[in-house]
Amino acid sequence: MNLKVHMKRRIPFRYIEPAFFGGLLDDPLLFLRIRPMRRALLFDCGQITHLAKRVVKPIDTLFITHAHMDHIMGIPTLVRHHHASPRPLDIYGPPGVAERVYHLLMGYDWNLCEPDWFTLRVHEIRQDTIRHYSLIGPDGFARRFDGEEPRCGREIWSSRYVTVEAELLDHKIPVLAFKILERPHYAIDSGLMEQQGLIPGEWIRDLKSRVWKGRTEHRVVVPRREGEVVREETVDDPCSFYAGIEARQSCASIGYLCDVGWTAENREKIEAFLNGVTLLCADCTFLAADVEKARASYHLCTEDLNDLARRLAPRFLLPMHLSKSYLLRTVALYNELHPPLGTTILPLPRHLVPAPLMVRDVDEWMRPPAHPLSTASSSTHPAPQQPSSDCPRTRPESDGA
Ligand SMILES: [Zn+2]
Ligand SMILES: [Zn+2]
Repeated sequence: MNLKVHMKRRIPFRYIEPAFFGGLLDDPLLFLRIRPMRRALLFDCGQITHLAKRVVKPIDTLFITHAHMDHIMGIPTLVRHHHASPRPLDIYGPPGVAERVYHLLMGYDWNLCEPDWFTLRVHEIRQDTIRHYSLIGPDGFARRFDGEEPRCGREIWSSRYVTVEAELLDHKIPVLAFKILERPHYAIDSGLMEQQGLIPGEWIRDLKSRVWKGRTEHRVVVPRREGEVVREETVDDPCSFYAGIEARQSCASIGYLCDVGWTAENREKIEAFLNGVTLLCADCTFLAADVEKARASYHLCTEDLNDLARRLAPRFLLPMHLSKSYLLRTVALYNELHPPLGTTILPLPRHLVPAPLMVRDVDEWMRPPAHPLSTASSSTHPAPQQPSSDCPRTRPESDGA
């Protein structure tokens, strides 16, 4: 499901374009393109073979909630797309994720690796520290421990446009929830400017160059009215000056919450972490009648999500990761969800991953042709029939071209 349409119409994202690449019953995959940077982040990495190469290529950072198979098994596919490139790939995940990723990759032979292959940098988010590892492509993804540093606050990744925060929760194993926040854009409050006697002019652009783009060669000279007199003053500390006239902004955010138990401690942490997010993508694995299954497996059921939606009041709610046991009852999920006023549900189709092939889909290619070719008489036989355009073998390469 591409959320771009919703985004342009209703979700006020400025820099990020979210696209959810799984159906309700598929593995959860949240893809976030950061438009000005032409790069993308991926949240969870289960089944990803249906992603076009054009989608996968800009992904340079992956955020893994936990190492259950449906959240991590796509990493070798991602590596297959990237390994001939020198550009590193970062993975952020819970404690133990480096070991899991390493063993995933050690299931292959890498004797043909080359010196310009990329390195996977794996970052384990712990309660108070972050541990860094490298899986070095030119050495066949050999593992190296790169050190541990204290963790300050929840932020684990940042760019000029977006930051990502993480919170450790309980799924019978440590699981990470993520919050993606857009950074404020450069905006000046004309009321504050007037209060300070500042006269609009070219300096506003110079100030942006200094505080936003870090261009120190730009001098900022500001005209300020004092009574009847206008004086020009050079700004010594552009960042503090900007802080004094910056327009207040509420920035859009996304909460990504997958596979968590409905425990008091989790609820408290989730409420503090994800309250008021613009879009909440949340695990809803079971229907209300199967609440005991949800409790036993540390997943959420529809009643839990109703409760969460009341507490967090997101503007948009995308329920995901429904158990495959509801194959013929997916509508029941939406019947049981009752979001609070002001929250809109974004419904997913049952499946977005293409249906698996049956033997009958390929069987015809294993039959001898009506006019078998032979080297001796090939010139006298008609040319073999081209496969029809809708057969599985003739699907276009998945690069979206
Ligand atoms: Zn899962
Ligand atoms: Zn899980």
